[in-house]
Amino acid sequence: MKPYEQLPRELTRILGERWSDTAANRLLYSRDMSAEITLKLRDQSGDPNFAPMRPHVVCWPEDAHEVVKLVKLANRLKIPIVPFGGGSGVVGGTIPVRGGMIIDLKRMDKILKLNNEQGTADIETGMLGWKLEAELNRTGYTLHFPTPARSATLGGYLAARSADVEDRLEEAEVVTPRGELIRFGRHAKLFPKIRTKDLFVGTEGTCGIITKARLKIQPLPPAECYRGISFNRLESGLMAMRLIIQANLRPTVLHLHDPLSLLFEHSRETSTSEQKTLMTQLKQGGQNWLLQHPRMTTLLNLLPLEVILIVGFAGEKTFISEQEKIALSLCQKVIARDLGPGPGEQWKQQRHHPSFMIPQLFDEGGFMDTIEVATTWDLLEGLYQKITRALQHKVCLMAHFSHATPDSCAISFTFAGKTGSYEQDLALYQEVWQEAMETCLLAGGTISHQHGIGLLKAPYLERELENCMKVFKAVKKKLDPAGIMNPGKMSL
Ligand SMILES: Cc1cc2nc3c(=O)[nH]c(=O)nc-3n(C[C@H](O)[C@H](O)[C@H](O)COP(=O)(O)OP(=O)(O)OC[C@H]3O[C@@H](n4cnc5c(N)ncnc54)[C@H](O)[C@@H]3O)c2cc1C
Repeated sequence: MKPYEQLPRELTRILGERWSDTAANRLLYSRDMSAEITLKLRDQSGDPNFAPMRPHVVCWPEDAHEVVKLVKLANRLKIPIVPFGGGSGVVGGTIPVRGGMIIDLKRMDKILKLNNEQGTADIETGMLGWKLEAELNRTGYTLHFPTPARSATLGGYLAARSADVEDRLEEAEVVTPRGELIRFGRHAKLFPKIRTKDLFVGTEGTCGIITKARLKIQPLPPAECYRGISFNRLESGLMAMRLIIQANLRPTVLHLHDPLSLLFEHSRETSTSEQKTLMTQLKQGGQNWLLQHPRMTTLLNLLPLEVILIVGFAGEKTFISEQEKIALSLCQKVIARDLGPGPGEQWKQQRHHPSFMIPQLFDEGGFMDTIEVATTWDLLEGLYQKITRALQHKVCLMAHFSHATPDSCAISFTFAGKTGSYEQDLALYQEVWQEAMETCLLAGGTISHQHGIGLLKAPYLERELENCMKVFKAVKKKLDPAGIMNPGKMSL
């Protein structure tokens, strides 16, 4: 009997009715939130020859032991497996390029244990991030996720190293590609100190399925405060950001928005008066025109537009005011204007709004995507300028800086375009990615900070890692000799 003919009986034995091979489910699980797929499916003018890559079956296990059984079955039948969280990834990480079995973990969505003394929570990784935060808040705790997508799961955050959740990871449970259930932890008595975590966190489901995680949690802060600080040059804003993070202050938010990002994404209180006027004019019909004539956005560089840093602190009121005082004094070193709490509060309210603009833009026949890169502070402004120069005459381009550490910082470029034809849109979209990745590698940046590599950036990963890729491939071969765990992703 052929492998796929055996599947229905075997799956029913393991999961009962919690699996499906219906055409509707196979189509639903053929994609993630990658902009390129949305573009191909955009409307009647999309690609008539585009054939989604469907899985053969979709499975919904309820615990790690069922995941073990599914992985052992897939090994025996040599069937590819794709771990699936919320499907909100934007790099094609869950696309079943060789068909096979989707393992959707969303039924594994419980907080198993809260340890008040240690300040930790044991959580099943299929839990949605927003639900996890809401449930923790009800018990007086928080994870302080920055700005995660509403539909992402804890497993997806860990697999793609999103939302800084990795920094809170104490222990985890993983099903390896051979179907063994293993645990690793920060406090393991290991010598030499091998960081087992690096095999599974950030490897996008290519080396195993993370089923459970112990995370460090914090008591809900009694107060939080956000404010906006304006600078008349990007260089000054970046220096202020670096001084704040290198002074060991502990902001919960530190985001620097370039002028166009303020215009398009946060166009009320965060904007200066010139930016507000410009935005009103653009909204009266100009926005569409600007998408088709992105070269005109370069003229904005001639206006006295400011950049704005959003900084937020949480904790006791005295702690917050002390930290804010130091942050403001550091900003004054590079000439800054304190805009008070208004822009910060507005940023907090509207931080998910840019995501809601995406469907509208596609509906109107355009496209939009985000390129996130990162580098060390000494190369940061150069990286921003080089990518901006390479792209700003092709598409409308805006950026913000975030995820600052004492050594490095990430840049998220959002680009949007519209040519009037599907073929030209697709060609332009692909050209923008290629140019951005090439420029990033030449400027000393890393091609991904928190969205992952998936299929989209796989061609560039080998160039970034050079000889290390050989080591990575050898490790993968040892862990997954049958090559069934999320094949094709991360160039593996
Ligand atoms: C509108 C929007 C806004 C976004 N905003 C942000 C943002 O602010 N910050 C950010 O970092 N990202 C953001 N993202 C990207 C996305 O939400 C993250 O990459 C997120 O981590 C994906 O989680 P998920 O559960 O949806 O994973 P999925 O898309 O289901 O999977 C992503 C990858 O992880 C693997 N995977 C999933 N679960 C597991 C598991 N348990 N074990 C092993 N591998 C697994 C998959 O195989 C795949 O390779 C955004 C996306 C959208 C669409």
